[in-house]
Amino acid sequence: MPDIIKLLPDSVANQIAAGEVVQRPASAVKELLENSIDAGATEIKLIIKDAGRSLIQVIDNGCGMSETDARMSFERHATSKISQANDLFRIRTLGFRGEALASIAAIAQVEMKTRRYEDELGTEILVEGSVVKSQQSCSCPAGTSIAVKNLFFNVPARRNFLKSNPIELRHILDEFYRVTLAYPNIAFTLFDNDIRKYSFEKSGLKPRIVQLFGSAFNEKLVPLEQKSDVVSISGFIGKPEFAKKNKGEQFFFVNNRFIKHSYLHHAVENAYKELVPESTHPPYFIFLSLDPSKIDVNIHPTKTEVNFLESQVIYSILRATVQKSLGIFNLRPALDFDVEKSFDYVPGKNRPVVMPGISINPDYNPFTNPKPSGTKVPFTSFASPKSEIPEQIPHIIHASPVLKSVIDEKELDSADDLAEQTSTALFQLQNRYIVTRVRSGMMIIDQQAAHERILFEKLLKAEQQKKPLCQRLLFPVTLELSPEDADVLRHILHDINQLGFEIDEFGQNSFIVHGTPLSESDLSIEGILDEIILHYKTGLLDVKMERRWLLIRAVARSLAIKAGKKLQLEEMQNIINELFTCSVPEQSPSGKSVVKIISMEEIAQKFK
Ligand code: ADP
Ligand code: MG
Repeated sequence: MPDIIKLLPDSVANQIAAGEVVQRPASAVKELLENSIDAGATEIKLIIKDAGRSLIQVIDNGCGMSETDARMSFERHATSKISQANDLFRIRTLGFRGEALASIAAIAQVEMKTRRYEDELGTEILVEGSVVKSQQSCSCPAGTSIAVKNLFFNVPARRNFLKSNPIELRHILDEFYRVTLAYPNIAFTLFDNDIRKYSFEKSGLKPRIVQLFGSAFNEKLVPLEQKSDVVSISGFIGKPEFAKKNKGEQFFFVNNRFIKHSYLHHAVENAYKELVPESTHPPYFIFLSLDPSKIDVNIHPTKTEVNFLESQVIYSILRATVQKSLGIFNLRPALDFDVEKSFDYVPGKNRPVVMPGISINPDYNPFTNPKPSGTKVPFTSFASPKSEIPEQIPHIIHASPVLKSVIDEKELDSADDLAEQTSTALFQLQNRYIVTRVRSGMMIIDQQAAHERILFEKLLKAEQQKKPLCQRLLFPVTLELSPEDADVLRHILHDINQLGFEIDEFGQNSFIVHGTPLSESDLSIEGILDEIILHYKTGLLDVKMERRWLLIRAVARSLAIKAGKKLQLEEMQNIINELFTCSVPEQSPSGKSVVKIISMEEIAQKFK
């Protein structure tokens, strides 16, 4: 029998490779745009006809190519971006496989015009189904123009697999969005069937988002910023009240490359847990930047999937960063929402839409300070201009479904009624939960988590105002600690004294306690400090959290009323009162749920 194995001719090999790289017009668009970015372009024009079937053209003002390079660029595995396997771990460019142009040229008619800035004349090359039809000098602007005509002209099977024009155009726009978001510092124009659809000046990220998704986004975004050794995070996330049913506006970029990553997506959505209704999704535009050697982008030819070496660490940092930006860890929102100046891309037109929200008065307490009956309780349920919302109320409150339902309750009943109703309809379940009625059903509060939240905010406020809540002990207590714990306490001594403790060092591993912050805790002083040290130590194992925050959380946790403690009616009332003047009543500082509402529907369901 004769030998039967043959090497495939290049044209066939290229066509096979093309199947992987160019599945549809959008894939060619992506490759061409990425090449222009890699070439250092600051202006890129994309021209589409018939959803990319008859024409995809990308014109850039990047570095251009020499005559030889222009010819070489169509060879398979021809790239200027890497030269040895090791380079794969240092990749900073979007392309590196050297396959895109070869693949595109295998299945289309390609017309390239390119000129380097230093050259007087440029080069024009025509390639059709991998065959170079002509090459000549030409005069053309510096940069590169590549026109891809009649995609899949020689692969009818592929052509027949294309979807309708609107669908293919949608895919092209998706790629265009991703690239324009990743590179707001590049100007982009898009012509679709000779109509100019988009024209973006070079700008910052927020204006670019607004240009793409509308001026309503001016109001919707909270900046994200976190630097650490493992990963740096930046970008914008949507305020919880803007979460939507579909996932359209969610973007991750790793080293400026758009990626899909369900694990990291989960980290973000998890940070919003409790803040957005179930099955709604917040918009996000998140940029991760990390050492290229810690990423493997090579696992998929179209490169929207990546592997991280340290995905778990990145997960926790990302979640914590999002939570921080949402203000979950703080009395006030952690960040000024207007860090990047708002921007209207169509001046005068399309004023930002004011979304309906709820504004509440944080000082108002219907339980202890009832208004004469008949007076309308000062909660408004309708959008008020931003300026009317008192400064100290974090925006996040407006989204809280729990609060909304409590507020609903308050709105509809007069304050007297409410005070009366709540006091009669309050009880403790298993010495753990406080149960009461609200208009929509039944509200259950975890007493320990609630008290942690209350103390956390009190301590934080006292610390910010430099008014520690100190209560001096009648009889000072001496503590003997293990050397390790003594080290920890020494380390935090100054800071916890700022929080209202009065503790002095007293010999090697001994301390003397003269005072503590106000506390209803049944624990002994030793017990409280043991817990603080323990919570602080375990907290340190968490992701890098701000130390001060960690400490306040540890103190709040150790001073809080514990599950298992029987509460008097008045104590329960106090907890409810104080909880709902907190800025984030629905979550304990360590992230546990504080309040749940079981709706009438859910209850009725159980009786079906
Ligand atoms: P890769 O991007 O993976 O290197 P491509 O097939 O996409 O492979 O491109 C091959 C080479 O052609 C690139 O490495 C680059 O040197 C050159 N090239 C492609 N497009 C451009 C462009 N728009 N401007 C300048 N050079 C380009
Ligand atoms: Mg490329």
